[in-house]
Amino acid sequence: MKLSDISLSHHYADLGDAFGTPIAPTPFAHPQLLHANPAVLRLLGIDAGEAANPAWAQLGSGARLFTGSKPLAMKYTGHQFGVYNPDLGDGRALLLGELESDGETWELHLKGAGKTPYSRFGDGRAVLRSTIREYLAGEALHGLGIPTTRALCIVGSDEPVTREKIETGAMLIRVARTHIRFGHFEYFFYTHQLEALRKLIAFTCARFLPESKDLDAAAQAEALLRFTIRKTAQMVAGWQAVGFAHGVMNTDNMSIIGDTFDYGPYGFLDDYEPEFICNHSDHTGRYAFEQQPGVALWNLNALAHALSAFVETEALRDCLEEFQPQLIDAYAERMRAKLGLATGEDGDRKLCADLLALLADGHVDYTLFFRALAHYRSERPPAALRELVPASHWEALDHWLDHYDQRLARENSDSRVRNRAMLGANPKFILRNYLAQRVIEAAERGDYQPLHTILALLQAPYDEHPEHEPWAAAPPESGKHLPISCSS
Ligand code: AMP
Ligand code: MG
Repeated sequence: MKLSDISLSHHYADLGDAFGTPIAPTPFAHPQLLHANPAVLRLLGIDAGEAANPAWAQLGSGARLFTGSKPLAMKYTGHQFGVYNPDLGDGRALLLGELESDGETWELHLKGAGKTPYSRFGDGRAVLRSTIREYLAGEALHGLGIPTTRALCIVGSDEPVTREKIETGAMLIRVARTHIRFGHFEYFFYTHQLEALRKLIAFTCARFLPESKDLDAAAQAEALLRFTIRKTAQMVAGWQAVGFAHGVMNTDNMSIIGDTFDYGPYGFLDDYEPEFICNHSDHTGRYAFEQQPGVALWNLNALAHALSAFVETEALRDCLEEFQPQLIDAYAERMRAKLGLATGEDGDRKLCADLLALLADGHVDYTLFFRALAHYRSERPPAALRELVPASHWEALDHWLDHYDQRLARENSDSRVRNRAMLGANPKFILRNYLAQRVIEAAERGDYQPLHTILALLQAPYDEHPEHEPWAAAPPESGKHLPISCSS
């Protein structure tokens, strides 16, 4: 498909006035295409050659609309840091419409597109820094097999945007199966618009649970909650297994289909640090890394409450009880793969917990350790692992490896088979904060080469890429715990 062939539908915008406000984007005066994502072009069925089409600068900055586009600022509310905020909605992003490709429906959402009725005190813009961070994060999580929104392109500008300092504005076209958040349901519930709530449930079910088509509102709402619980459990299990901290798990940042959504001050763990807080505005650590499973359940409770308009409390409670076992199973499966275990045993949870306690206590780099573990063989001294662990913890490491050896022996693990499987479960490249910072600083100087390089690594994070070895390195001490502003 050529760019000129793209034709969007607008089923969400057609749901009615209650669902948002139609509004045109506010384009930049001098938009410049900084990157078009070949992988997402392919996903959408757009020809690779179109990446260089000069029309992107206009389309990606709202100066021109795709055929059929009906830009809409979606209305939603949500709980932010545990407190209900009735005034939310798309304050700087617009749903452009839906694109069908290969039987899938993809929504295009233009972020940084100017003020809307839901902008409150904001300027409606996004800065280049945060736009690059969102762009990279989507590719990083996708590359790691974790459901996420992605982005089609970034357009930069010379428009000054004031944050802690003056930066420049940028926009990205976010691509997702849906932009419906927990907060959409909360909005209709708290404003007593039950007919609109019913319509939203039916709309979401028609897209994602077609088998629930003929059910009544109560049964659809319950099926939807079960679906969201399952997807959210899988998403969070993925985060915990790769060491990703979202940073702002407010219910307006939770996708109803369990996509990782709305990237702000997120972070990947360098050292394994369960209490890691990536958002420096999160003074109580509500969204610390180890809190994420519990917060996800808190958020699902908020969603269930919104659905209590249709579903009995007892049934909601039954649904919510499914979360914890699903999360534990999904996490255990990912951690078994990381440890190279082909089967499951009762003691695996303890084996894994003992290792994580060792890594936390020794301040060991999480990603490097597991990648090195892929090359471990019982019959050889664990030199590569020792290099990553402080000498004070070598005895504990040897002790853990004894248990690991016994566990491997019990399933007759073949080291070559295991090595291959583990290299496909333990990434070499993750989106470390200090690397993201370097890419951003280069882009702010007009050098986009590091952005291209890191995207290619994040899109294939399990491959060796020997020419890019430095991008796999742990940060220098000064690159750990860089303060990440939540301004974006
Ligand atoms: P976030 O913290 O990015 O998830 O955003 C929370 C709410 O604030 C959403 O309703 C956003 O649309 C809105 N918002 C964030 N930044 C801006 C901005 N610069 N201008 C207008 N609205 C914004
Ligand atoms: Mg948000």
